[in-house]
Amino acid sequence: MEPTTFAGAGLDRAAERRGDPTWVAERQAQPPRRAVAVTRDGVVVEPGDPSRLARVRLEGAAGPGPVLLGVEERGALFAVAVDDAPPDGSVLGLREAAATLLQDEGGLAAHATALLNWHRRHPHCSRCGAETQVAEAGYVRRCPRCGAEHHPRTDPVVIMLVSRGDEVLLGRQPSWPADRYSALAGFVEPGESLEEAVAREVLEESGVTIRAPRYYASQPWPFPGSLMVGFFAEHAAGEPVARDGELEDARWFSRAELERSVAGEGALRLPPRLAIARRLVDHWLAERGR
Ligand SMILES: [Zn+2]
Repeated sequence: MEPTTFAGAGLDRAAERRGDPTWVAERQAQPPRRAVAVTRDGVVVEPGDPSRLARVRLEGAAGPGPVLLGVEERGALFAVAVDDAPPDGSVLGLREAAATLLQDEGGLAAHATALLNWHRRHPHCSRCGAETQVAEAGYVRRCPRCGAEHHPRTDPVVIMLVSRGDEVLLGRQPSWPADRYSALAGFVEPGESLEEAVAREVLEESGVTIRAPRYYASQPWPFPGSLMVGFFAEHAAGEPVARDGELEDARWFSRAELERSVAGEGALRLPPRLAIARRLVDHWLAERGR
């Protein structure tokens, strides 16, 4: 199976070495001293080549950086936050960039964005409120007052395609473009297995109970720091009713309706191909087509 969009960065994260400040300082001081640059809501790509992230010089970085992404063939690669993006049109929104970046470059973009988002959103110690300091090349924030160590967080979200024979359950949020429907999804709660979260979210959002949840694939989703965990599940009981206030509609769609949408016909608009929701639909259709 091909990796999902935002997965598949090819570099070595150097996880066993980045805790060594001497090693990190050497990587920062030695050429090639390169970094990828992340703005508040986008990434900087090579001017004239939106399939690759620009490699900028380490100097002049704002924010918590530089944080280490890892080591690639040409040496260490860092990520820096830039406030003043170059005015040459080389900044792309992350979703836009996902459509043009090569697989491994998209993985780097997600890695850099999620990590820097975490730094931006967590400047203070959640235990005592003091300002924390960056350590371990950006993978820890340490509190100088109480000694607490804070690690980058990733919030798991389950997303699931529920099927009943030859139809699947999709829902839509009021803010989406007209006729857009997607797989149901929601955050995993404390003390819950992924399978339990799948069942709870489907029931909560649509009133439908499911059985046989089956893991399919996952996708880093750096908006700002989620991990989408994709499942298939089978309908057990109940008819869908949008009822938790999050969705304005939830209903069954036939395989024929999905196939028409994939072919660019009919009213239904499925999520873009970069989203794991679309991968779930495409995979379900391919399995049925055999
Ligand atoms: Zn503290």
